[in-house]
Amino acid sequence: MGKYFQPEIETASRDQIINIQNEKIVKQVKHVYENVAYYRELMDEKGVKPEDIKSIDDIKKLPFLSKADLRDAYPYGLLGTDLKNCVRIHSTSGTTGRRVVAFYTQHDVDLWEECCARAIVATGGSSEDVVQVAYGYGLFTGGFGLHGGSQKVGCLTLPMSSGNTERQIQFMMDLGSTILCCTPSYAAFIGESLAEKGYKPSDNKLRAGIFGAEPWTEEMRREIEKSLGIKAYDIYGLTETSGPGVAYECEEQTGMHINEDHFYAEIIDPDTGEVLPDGEKGELVFTALDKEAFPLLRYRTRDICVLSREKCSCGRTHVKMSKPMGRSDDMMIIRGVNVFPSQIETVLIKEGYAPNYLIEVDRVKNTDTLDINVELSPGQFSDKVSDIQAKEKALEAAMRTMIGIGPKIHLVPPKSIARSEGKAVRVIDKRKLHD
Ligand code: ADP
Ligand code: ZN
Repeated sequence: MGKYFQPEIETASRDQIINIQNEKIVKQVKHVYENVAYYRELMDEKGVKPEDIKSIDDIKKLPFLSKADLRDAYPYGLLGTDLKNCVRIHSTSGTTGRRVVAFYTQHDVDLWEECCARAIVATGGSSEDVVQVAYGYGLFTGGFGLHGGSQKVGCLTLPMSSGNTERQIQFMMDLGSTILCCTPSYAAFIGESLAEKGYKPSDNKLRAGIFGAEPWTEEMRREIEKSLGIKAYDIYGLTETSGPGVAYECEEQTGMHINEDHFYAEIIDPDTGEVLPDGEKGELVFTALDKEAFPLLRYRTRDICVLSREKCSCGRTHVKMSKPMGRSDDMMIIRGVNVFPSQIETVLIKEGYAPNYLIEVDRVKNTDTLDINVELSPGQFSDKVSDIQAKEKALEAAMRTMIGIGPKIHLVPPKSIARSEGKAVRVIDKRKLHD
């Protein structure tokens, strides 16, 4: 395997990519209009006919779809083909509410797995690699997506699924895994468990990790790289668009290349729906250009990021998205200030703490409260109350400088915050329970 999985597409010229998109969007809008009554009604309401879409630029005329539409249409309302043509169902993890189900034809599975294969090859993956897939298998897309991609590349694929960390480590060591795929929080946990067993980072054969499905900071990336002795790559996707692999990092690691031959990306102002120029921060919107069974057009992801078309040293020509800064619905508004969990994570790691924390937001006597439980490592732990209090004060001050409001920090003993094998739960917002 060379440097790319599908070189002619991954390094296609801008004109070639636009031609592919022009051709696919015309066909796709027709397909959706004819087969998805729910979307046909949205188009009719807006007065748009399939004939109005002559090229990818016309996409602006189409209505948006949101998570609310997916819930309304649950389960079959957005299906683009007969169920008898479908071979697979997956579902969101339900991080933010009722689950969404997505359908796949064999063609859809193939294109998804090809996207994951591109991501694996971008980390230097080839048939020489042993890929340990420690994303959950099942309704969640992570396990099956990377599994299929790994097999397409010809890697020896270990379908571990998430959890059972003892066995993960045993197989990793015995079978010489070279690429680890899982959520970043689980990768951090595996790194921590290896150290506890007395392994040094150089004792394993891992050289790369492909981590995604949840937000993670650059600081967390460096922690994981250190603890596992690898280069850690980001991968992005969502169930609604197929799963992981919609975008992935190359060796340059300055954003994730979006597989533009299958997914057309726009950035919009989340309040007005206006399309923003490249380089501006806003909500990411995806159109699946050639999916058959679940062909979402202009789907609002609620992920906030920036697109960039700067030339990439890896030779790939596809547009890059920045690491999502968190979902618009991850954002906490505390005493009127916008706070993202990722900002808190950045401060923690900068101040020398491990990324094991739990944020609790509440409202007491009409005032928002922000409590952050932060776990100490065994080396940081102290019996002296005054030591702990001094550390708490210092961390509170660092947080106040970064996020603009002062939280209450609680340093808690080693191992007292539950570890995650899938997507980590970082925030408990009790205000939602009272309201
Ligand atoms: P759920 O919405 O229930 O979490 P999914 O499993 O489909 O369902 O999750 C998709 C979401 O996960 C994305 O919209 C995004 O918010 C988040 N996500 C996926 N990959 C990444 C990544 N690499 N960095 C940050 N967030 C990510
Ligand atoms: Zn690149």
